[in-house]
Amino acid sequence: MSIWFPAAMAARLMDGKALAERIRAEVAEEVRELGELGLATVLVGDDPASDIYIRLKHKAAGEVGINARDIRLASHTTEEELLEQIEQLNRDDTIDGLLVQLPLPDHIDEARVIRAVDPMKDVDGLHPLNAGQLYLGAPAHVGATPVGVMALLEEYDVPIEGANAVVVGRSDIVGKPASLLLLHANATVIVCHSRTKDLAAHTREADILVVAVGKAGVIQPDHVREGATVIDVGMNRGEEGVVGDVDPAVAERAGLITPVPGGVGPMTIAMLLRSAVRAARYRRGLLAFPGA
Ligand code: NAP
Repeated sequence: MSIWFPAAMAARLMDGKALAERIRAEVAEEVRELGELGLATVLVGDDPASDIYIRLKHKAAGEVGINARDIRLASHTTEEELLEQIEQLNRDDTIDGLLVQLPLPDHIDEARVIRAVDPMKDVDGLHPLNAGQLYLGAPAHVGATPVGVMALLEEYDVPIEGANAVVVGRSDIVGKPASLLLLHANATVIVCHSRTKDLAAHTREADILVVAVGKAGVIQPDHVREGATVIDVGMNRGEEGVVGDVDPAVAERAGLITPVPGGVGPMTIAMLLRSAVRAARYRRGLLAFPGA
């Protein structure tokens, strides 16, 4: 158990590490069946957090037998140079999945870069084609974090249909796709953000509370209904290491809660690998759409 949680904890921990390990073993099996499989990551600049994420992704990819290509470009790389690199990877038959690590340096138009990625290789699900497919409830590459959130809910048999789901945060990479996935699973969804007037009034109504804000302690016990399922996506680096967005004392009220670390984080990596397998299946004619 994470030391982050108090001794008086009532909630059951949702063990993302254990579930992620199982998914990674399944992915390794699928990679063996498929033979060669290539995942490329592109990192521009030397942001230390991005460097850590890229390293984790490559380590995990290597462990399941995926050939991962780690492309590092200098922070002064121009937008045109980056677009050229992406074009090359789009055309490269040995690359099944491709992701550009965000954020990009300020002089690069992020939306333009995202649009340049082949949507069938877009394992982060950020290309407008995939975002649109998700909006429609159609098969799509969907970001690994929101898919990981849904997998955790399924693993712990959390009823979603008819449940009140509150998502705090509306980023393109977590909050928005998570809210759409919950909506398609027939939850009644409320999305909160920095301009929400009375956050606690909304979150207290949640049977399922998904928090993706990036501020430690933004959710306190009085934000949470007794017995609710709380998914903490936040990863905040502080003096005590990495902590989530949810105050530790929330574990005394929640029914189920994800620890940080060991909850959503490992699921994100596992689901990225699964997304790469789906991209590879699509490219070999084994799937009608990569996220299907
Ligand atoms: P982001 O792009 O910065 O979005 C943060 C969201 O939180 C925004 O929608 C913002 O509202 C909202 N917000 C900010 N302050 C708020 C407040 N006081 N009350 C309510 N909402 C507030 O962040 P992100 O990329 O979604 O990431 C969120 C967190 O998840 C970060 O800690 C990140 O490190 C973590 N993360 C973890 C994983 C993982 O694998 N575990 C993966 C991705 C991200 P506005 O839209 O109004 O600005």
